[in-house]
Amino acid sequence: MEVSARQNKQKEQDFLVASISQLSISNSTSPRVVAKFHYDSGVAELRFDPESDPKASVHFDLHTSRLFKLSQSESVCISEASETDKEKSYSRGISIQFRNEEESRNFHCAFEQWKKEVVVQGSDFPNGTASSSQSKFDDKIEASSAKMYFHYYGQLLHQQNMMQDYVRTGTYYAAVMENRVDFVGRVVVDVGAGSGILSLFAAQAGARHVYAVEASEMAEYARKLIDGNPSLGERITVIKGKVEEVELREKADILISEPMGTLLVNERMLESYIIARDRFLVPNGKMFPTIGRIHMAPFSDEYLYMEIANKALFWQQQNYYGVNLAPLQSTAFQGYFSQPVVDAFDPRLLVAPAVSHVIDFTSTKEEDLYEIDIPLKFVSTVGTRVHGLACWFDVLFDGSTVQRWLTTGPGAPTTHWYQLRCVLAQPIYVMPGQEIVGRLHMVSHKAQSYTLHLTLSAKMWGPGAEQGGILQTSSGKLDLKEPYYRLSQPQAYPLPQDQQSNQLLQTQDIQIQAQDEEGSDLMQQTLQDSGAELHSL
Ligand code: SAH
Repeated sequence: MEVSARQNKQKEQDFLVASISQLSISNSTSPRVVAKFHYDSGVAELRFDPESDPKASVHFDLHTSRLFKLSQSESVCISEASETDKEKSYSRGISIQFRNEEESRNFHCAFEQWKKEVVVQGSDFPNGTASSSQSKFDDKIEASSAKMYFHYYGQLLHQQNMMQDYVRTGTYYAAVMENRVDFVGRVVVDVGAGSGILSLFAAQAGARHVYAVEASEMAEYARKLIDGNPSLGERITVIKGKVEEVELREKADILISEPMGTLLVNERMLESYIIARDRFLVPNGKMFPTIGRIHMAPFSDEYLYMEIANKALFWQQQNYYGVNLAPLQSTAFQGYFSQPVVDAFDPRLLVAPAVSHVIDFTSTKEEDLYEIDIPLKFVSTVGTRVHGLACWFDVLFDGSTVQRWLTTGPGAPTTHWYQLRCVLAQPIYVMPGQEIVGRLHMVSHKAQSYTLHLTLSAKMWGPGAEQGGILQTSSGKLDLKEPYYRLSQPQAYPLPQDQQSNQLLQTQDIQIQAQDEEGSDLMQQTLQDSGAELHSL
């Protein structure tokens, strides 16, 4: 959306006012003050600069400021605390005394104009604005889900968690730096910039300009981080808003983003990445990452199966304080099996080579991600009981110089995504060389995730085998939004403070034993054998 302030290339406007006084500090008046509307680096401000003491300058973020008329030549400007530091700070107010009524009127007019044109629905102009109409994002995502989602990403600790995944961040860094030629002199859009770290990488690689689009309150922190790295920051503009809604003043030569969730598609941010492609990328522009692959293979893990099944045993009790809990047993059983398990497992638990489903980010339509149907066909390498389907993903940075993969597979260095396993309530039996067929049908829902429908079948041996066998089929319905993070169990028993430090290792044992006493040694052994690391989320 084009607006007049930008057309005039207006970035500043000054008014001379008689005096101001801060409402919270009485009598702190200064003789003459210049009230300045100012736009720079994605931030629109109203500044009050006392002529006698420039250091006493007061800055208001126009985005959160309101102006009230007290009399013909007196007004009050109030600025709300920003959402990020709401708990720590209070609203600020300033009383403005104009020299006459006409100047007051002009100032009010200018204030309204700047607010309307420079600050549009949370996005600061001139580099980004948000359209006021309902966006594609709002159409398909529940408001309550989006609120929680962006609240989560608005917190530094969660950005830090991703940044501290060195496999992830290191691979992005390498992919960008090794492919400098794709960034030098180019316009980049960072889709879901978070802390702004990928924008800073792109600037390091020589980007001409980077637009860092971030919908959560993290945008404010990204601004701070970017301002604190001025040599790179001068080529980065942070735009607060959803990629579905903001407007950019130019097209991008390359998109960079980290839109991957558990099983690649969780969080439904890939759709935002695709929308950003259609809205901002030049034809044949580059995308980092370029393609993604979901890998799937059947697994056998008796211990995991028992652990989940045993959880529902609680509801088998017929005399729980005199109450029969059994009516809810089958519901509890189903409930536990509807949670995909997230942890790092030993690749030796896989019973067949994996199959893959490829998503090409450069050509996939957004709608293609609403429902993903993957036919499955494996040949078992062993005779065993199959407990479900193990899944992981990787993405490719198809750079002009180097192709680099970021993988989250079992046996590879663990990432914060770990791997995902869909466990079937009814395991199936297979012989070596036997075929396992099935389907993974993923249906997106409005809470930014997917319902997974899994079916696995194998022919039974024994009577009827000569005639083609009897099919044993097992199905499950799982909610990707509600995973069971298997490595982040709370401590079984809180330890007194003085015991904590020297018993750290024992505490880890307790966590695992608490899940299933019988199989814990086996679990320990499996993890040690595999060399898999225990990470807490
Ligand atoms: N790029 C950062 C953060 C990745 S996490 C990094 O690699 O460290 C994904 C980020 O995208 C979150 O901060 C989230 O708030 C943001 N995001 C998700 N969907 C978005 C959308 N539709 N528009 C803008 N930002 C979005």
